[in-house]
Amino acid sequence: MLQQTQVKTVIPYFNKFTKKFKTIKDLSKSNEREILKMWEGLGYYRRARNLLACSKLLVQNYKSILPKSINEIKKLPGVGDYTANALLGLVYNEPRIAIDGNVKRVFSRNLNIEEEKINFDKLIKKNKKKLFITKRNDDFVEALMEFGALICKPKNPNCLTCCLIKTCKYFKSNKKIKNIKNKMIKNKDYDIFCYINKKQQIALTKRNQISFLKNFNLPEIKESKSSLKNKNWIFLKNYKNSISNLKLNINLYYKFSNKIPRAYSWYSLKNNREFVPSFTKKILRQISSLY
Ligand code: SF4
Repeated sequence: MLQQTQVKTVIPYFNKFTKKFKTIKDLSKSNEREILKMWEGLGYYRRARNLLACSKLLVQNYKSILPKSINEIKKLPGVGDYTANALLGLVYNEPRIAIDGNVKRVFSRNLNIEEEKINFDKLIKKNKKKLFITKRNDDFVEALMEFGALICKPKNPNCLTCCLIKTCKYFKSNKKIKNIKNKMIKNKDYDIFCYINKKQQIALTKRNQISFLKNFNLPEIKESKSSLKNKNWIFLKNYKNSISNLKLNINLYYKFSNKIPRAYSWYSLKNNREFVPSFTKKILRQISSLY
């Protein structure tokens, strides 16, 4: 849940989730619909699907116990180097570091070398003896991430209260490395086309090509091309929507129709109990205003 999401946003979701699913077994008995409903609003829904798939695999193949080998852990859906290292450190107290943006910044500043120029795996291997000096590897892996988030912050690091001030090259240097660039924001223009009918229903399909909402129900959505005139569609509204590092400029169109393409199904605008991502909810709200 914490990947790409702030702690304060995650807390209520985490509490609800762990209250409902007390064990891996409980989670494995759930289904995608239920999990997505509980995840609604948290975004990056692939995480929810992967978590459910992981729980099923763990119960089936590993007696509900996280494997100890990094290669085995990385076979679990959605688990790459970062998560595998974090899990082995946190769960099995192995001397590992989960290299996220915060941790990269701490190392990079201490050395006063730009992140792009550091091979972090090599650096950690080479300095293993200096880094893992206590037996509390589980605390260390967590502390490093928190340290980057709370002390060695992206902007205005708290150098004067920092325990590394004596050795930190960034602090001492007159030629400090530049602040790490923010995530590149991409602007995209989309046209969204909604078939609607007199029964207050909208036609949605899972066959969309939008990477951040793959396999979720959406109306037809296309990247805008200024050369295209969207004849036969009535323009409803232009609005903005931000998702992660995407800034979307959306033109919303509609038409009343009883006929819809094959891959589409009708959904009620009023009584939809299905899980709906907030991106789609916004569309449904605008379309509902027509009735
Ligand atoms: S002294 Fe400042 S820049 Fe260096 S590690 Fe501490 S907080 Fe970061």
